[in-house]
Amino acid sequence: MVVFPFYFDMEVFMKKAIIALSGGIDSAVAAGIAKKEGYELYFLTVNYGQKNIEKELENSKKLAEYYGVKEHKIIDMKWLGELGNSGITDINIHFEDVPDDFIYVPYRNTCIITACVAWAEVNGADVIYTGSEAGPWICPDNSPEYYEAINNLVGISTKLNNKIKVVAPLNYSDKEGNIRKGVELGLPFEYTWTCVARDDVACGICQPCRDRLQAFEKVGIKDPIPYAKLEDNKE
Ligand SMILES: [Zn+2]
Repeated sequence: MVVFPFYFDMEVFMKKAIIALSGGIDSAVAAGIAKKEGYELYFLTVNYGQKNIEKELENSKKLAEYYGVKEHKIIDMKWLGELGNSGITDINIHFEDVPDDFIYVPYRNTCIITACVAWAEVNGADVIYTGSEAGPWICPDNSPEYYEAINNLVGISTKLNNKIKVVAPLNYSDKEGNIRKGVELGLPFEYTWTCVARDDVACGICQPCRDRLQAFEKVGIKDPIPYAKLEDNKE
């Protein structure tokens, strides 16, 4: 005879999702999508020596509170930034002087996703969400081919064989589309940061800043974060 309890703890039955959360718009929207799909959320934020780390940590903590995550891990990969050769981590590289592809951090996304998969093997999460957005995929570790390959790797390299999936729900959505999705989900954009050059005010010069400003303009809403005045940036 099967005896049903009078009540049960729903959390026991909720599927878990780990979000590779940076504190930027895209991963914050990805978290909102996972939440809407009914997952219990776990955030993983990585300090890989990015110049804007203080702001990313501040925002990721605010977003963790906003989404009511079950657990938020902040892990150290500063060695990645110490390798240099990226405008995001190398203080000697200034965005005014380098091509747009200097936003690539060598092999970063695979390192972060690997950390998420390791955690999923322990906490039983079914899915890893990232905020990777649509092309042109300047960085090779953002493309649909990359996600196909990383899922193949996860499938053959984990004990929970083929159970854990890595998804990028915004992989065919550009920044404008991501902002529209964020509006639909009620995302507090003031808790997001996109500038990779500064963490006091957004510089307005780096490629991510330019993309963000342009996208907010297209959507027709005001970006709530502070920007340096353009005349201040000309010196
Ligand atoms: Zn910037």
